[in-house]
Amino acid sequence: MTLPAFSLVRPQTVAEALRVLQEAAPGQAKIVAGGTDLIPNLQMKLYAPQLVVDIKGIVALRGIEWSPRQGLQIGALTTLAELEHAPVVREQFPVLAEAVAAVAGPLQRNMGTIGGNLCLETRCLWYNQSEFWRRALGGCLKLPMPNPHAALSRTICHVAPGGKFCWAVWSGDSAPALLTLDAEVEIAGPRGRVRRPLRDFYKNDGMDRIALGPDELLTAVHVPAHAAGRRGTYRKLRIRNSIDYPLAGVAVTMEVDREGICRAARVAIAAVNPAPLLVPQAETLLVGKKASPELIEEVARATTRTGKPLTTSVSTPEYRREMLRVFTRRALQTCWHNPGRAEHEHNSGD
Ligand code: SF4
Repeated sequence: MTLPAFSLVRPQTVAEALRVLQEAAPGQAKIVAGGTDLIPNLQMKLYAPQLVVDIKGIVALRGIEWSPRQGLQIGALTTLAELEHAPVVREQFPVLAEAVAAVAGPLQRNMGTIGGNLCLETRCLWYNQSEFWRRALGGCLKLPMPNPHAALSRTICHVAPGGKFCWAVWSGDSAPALLTLDAEVEIAGPRGRVRRPLRDFYKNDGMDRIALGPDELLTAVHVPAHAAGRRGTYRKLRIRNSIDYPLAGVAVTMEVDREGICRAARVAIAAVNPAPLLVPQAETLLVGKKASPELIEEVARATTRTGKPLTTSVSTPEYRREMLRVFTRRALQTCWHNPGRAEHEHNSGD
């Protein structure tokens, strides 16, 4: 589990980082911020880059700014712990505070950044293993090119043998919350900075997960002002509640008027597909309606149709799909009836 050999550079500005990325050999540079995802993956020899670009010294990418007109701007290097404890996030965007508080354990939240959490590598039980373990199995489609382990095959998927698609799952917590808040990501590249909807950032492909070029850098996340104050909650299935990746995650945000009628709603899921996804039918089903057990169950069933869990984790697809339904139902009930109680409820698969 030692690190492979690589060169390390530490740019201090976005311009410097972009120049380093542009000059790197194609596919040979990896960006590191908190390191909680990249370093274990390097130790397991999942890839062997010539160059690692440590962007943690770029001060301009840190911090949270809030304005009632502009909304919330989060620098990509803002740590998950800073987000979890920021009063404006806890008060105006509770779904995000809850989701980042559910990431791994306190050590990872102190190190891990929001940019890194949105750019997590996809995960699979058959891939995220030691080199020794993978050699015994014989490799799979997700092995990087050029293949540093020439003896291993790149022709088979152990989850869906015969297919040519990688179903490794996107296993983060912040993205489903940010999807329900209509967030955008800001990306810097050779042609300047652009903002894209977060929902367009994910490609739903286990081998090619995000729309970020090798010469681009995710610099910030923007949450629009119109999403401030939405009721919201996040539910997460994991083996160890104290520290673990999600096996299924459901985020819900809602606006409910004084008569109890839903005026806006989003439901998003994670850890069951190669991308975090909005449930497309949720808004149509919920907006303009009052709560009823039948309606909540209908939305919960729509969520299970969006999720496509396969044998990519230690838990069964059937259980994870069922927990999508259970979590959606609980989250909708909380948002509709008990919006202040979300933080105190237990995220468990019981
Ligand atoms: Fe490999 Fe298939 Fe898992 Fe992708 S889903 S990492 S190709 S075993």
